[in-house]
Amino acid sequence: MIPVTKPFLPPFEQYQYYLQGIWQRNWLTNNGPLVNELELKLKEYLDVPHLLFLSNGTLAIQIAIKALGLKGEIITTPFSYVATTSSIVWEGCTPVFTDIDPNTFNIDPKKIESAITSSTSAILATHCFGNSCDIEAIDSIAKKHHLKVIYDAAHCFGTRYKGKSIFNYGDISTSSFHATKLFHTIEGGAVFTRNPDVLKRMWLMRNFGHDGVAKFDGVGINAKNSEFHAAMGLCVLKQIDAILRRRKEQHNYYDQALKNLRGNTIIVQKDSEYNFAYYPFVFENESAVIKAIKELEKIEIFPRRYFYPSLSLLDYVRKSSTPISDSIASRILCLPIFHDLSIEETDMIARTLLRAQNY
Ligand SMILES: *Cc1c(COP(=O)(O)O)cnc(C)c1O
Repeated sequence: MIPVTKPFLPPFEQYQYYLQGIWQRNWLTNNGPLVNELELKLKEYLDVPHLLFLSNGTLAIQIAIKALGLKGEIITTPFSYVATTSSIVWEGCTPVFTDIDPNTFNIDPKKIESAITSSTSAILATHCFGNSCDIEAIDSIAKKHHLKVIYDAAHCFGTRYKGKSIFNYGDISTSSFHATKLFHTIEGGAVFTRNPDVLKRMWLMRNFGHDGVAKFDGVGINAKNSEFHAAMGLCVLKQIDAILRRRKEQHNYYDQALKNLRGNTIIVQKDSEYNFAYYPFVFENESAVIKAIKELEKIEIFPRRYFYPSLSLLDYVRKSSTPISDSIASRILCLPIFHDLSIEETDMIARTLLRAQNY
């Protein structure tokens, strides 16, 4: 059986080493030494000024929205995981969808301005599949209209824009370190900002608003993460260069092997370095996707229709017209890609897809 993705597990002894330390200290959560160590190592590896390790990538978006005091409408992408939209609604704001670019799968900056109203407070864009948004265009629209920018960079570990980690951009960038992501801490996430005041607010929010044992500064929530999760992160971080290298090899292999498959894969945003986190493929039409899935499933290979359906079709959002997102969502398939997927398996997937298109 080949799933669409498989969590990376480090050598067991490595994790065990950290467990021994946790047992000795009897310090399991609440900003422990491993959480601190992970935050420091991530800052160093990514070369970012500030970050906070959180319990997941959804709370990261919610805290980002709250910390920036966003109200009213937030312009966002219909082509992302549901958490991007649900977090906006959860925070009492209204998502306003603008359509995507059919090549990068990211929000199309040319369509943002016509969606801005007097109630718009921010743009929340996802760097879809780890492919950078057109950050320069988005940031300049935001500046002109005095809007905040949050980037949902859940897929982006290792992606760079103009030579810097993608997490450096926007008022806040958020990420997810969920087990299915390229870098993971089992469950986990982070917020990144260059602004120390915003950082302080998010730091308070992460821990109930505690500013000392008996003092509270504003409303908070519990978005802390544990020593056990940090330990997994420290183990995975040791292997991250090999993980990124392997993804790139697999990506290139798919590109070669699928040259004659009708459709297209992702086009990498200019000025950026892609992390090759996913292998999305857009077929000519929906029936070609369904046929491909059927043929792959016959040999126990399970790709995923991702992202499907388009978020603009959720029943708790305002109706809007996003024909490109709707069309891509109906034709896209994410092919299996994970660290120990072999070249033979990749080859078998590619051959099956090529055969399926001739039926
Ligand atoms: C995974 C993901 C999230 C949510 O992250 P969790 O850590 O699972 O809460 C948010 N946005 C996108 C685009 C994601 O892929």
